[in-house]
Amino acid sequence: MRSKLVAGNWKMHGSRAAISDLLAALKAELPSEPRVDIAVFPSAVYLADTRSLLSGSPVAIGAQNVCEKPGEGAYTGEVSAQMLADIGCRYVIVGHSERRAMYGESSELVASKVKCVLDAGLLPILCVGESEADRDAGRTLEVVAEQIQAVFDLLPVSELASLIVAYEPVWAIGTGKTATPAQAQEVHAFIRGLVAERSTELAAGIRILYGGSVKAANAAELFSQADIDGGLVGGASLNAQEFSAICRAAE
Ligand code: PEP
Repeated sequence: MRSKLVAGNWKMHGSRAAISDLLAALKAELPSEPRVDIAVFPSAVYLADTRSLLSGSPVAIGAQNVCEKPGEGAYTGEVSAQMLADIGCRYVIVGHSERRAMYGESSELVASKVKCVLDAGLLPILCVGESEADRDAGRTLEVVAEQIQAVFDLLPVSELASLIVAYEPVWAIGTGKTATPAQAQEVHAFIRGLVAERSTELAAGIRILYGGSVKAANAAELFSQADIDGGLVGGASLNAQEFSAICRAAE
C-alpha cells in the first residue's frame, strides 16, 4: 500500500518572520499524527530555520533543487545532495518545470540530479509534465515518457526504489487551471505503466504525485484517483489553512 505524500513547494517566497508565522499556523492546523507524509520545501537559505521550527513535528523538509555534481568541489553557488542530507532534508524536488524552462535544465541533467539525490540517501521528487502547446499537439505522453526515460537511461531499476514522480502539467502550474481528475489519472496510469515495463514491483510501490493548482477545493477528487498518490502544491502551500486542508483531503 502506497502512503500518500503532500509536498509544499514554497518556491522563492518567504522571510524568517514569514516562515516562522506560517509554520506556527501549520503546526496548529495539522493533526499531531497525520496519516499521510507531509513535507515543506523552503528556499535553501531557510532550510535550517525550517528544520528547527519543525522540531518534534511530523512534517519533513526538502529542498527545491540540488547540484548535479557528486561530492564536493569548486562549484560556486551550488548546494550538494550530501549537504542537504547533512542539514536534515528528506526530499529534493528535481527538474521542476520552472527550472527546465528558465534555467535550461535538460532531462539528462535532471537525471544526474536524481542520481546524486539517491546516492545521498534522499528521496528525489522528479517533476515531469507537458506544456500547453505539447498537450494541444497531442504530445503529452511522448513528452512525459522522454523525461522519465532519461532517468531509466542513467539508473538501473534496482536503484530507483526511493524515486517519487510528480506529474505537473506546465499549463496548470500557478495558473489556477487544474487538470481534471480524469486527465491527471490518464497520465499517472501511463507513468505507472512505463515503470511496470521495467519492474512491476517498482510500479506498484512508486508514488506519483499530481501538481498544478491543487487547492483544498479540488484535492480530494484528485487524490481519490487510483494512481494519484498525493500532491506537489505550490501557491496553496503558503497558506496554512489551505495546505492543511489539502493534507486532510489526502487522508
Ligand atoms: C508547483 O510549483 O509545483 C505547483 C504545482 O504550483 P501551483 O500549485 O501554484 O500550481
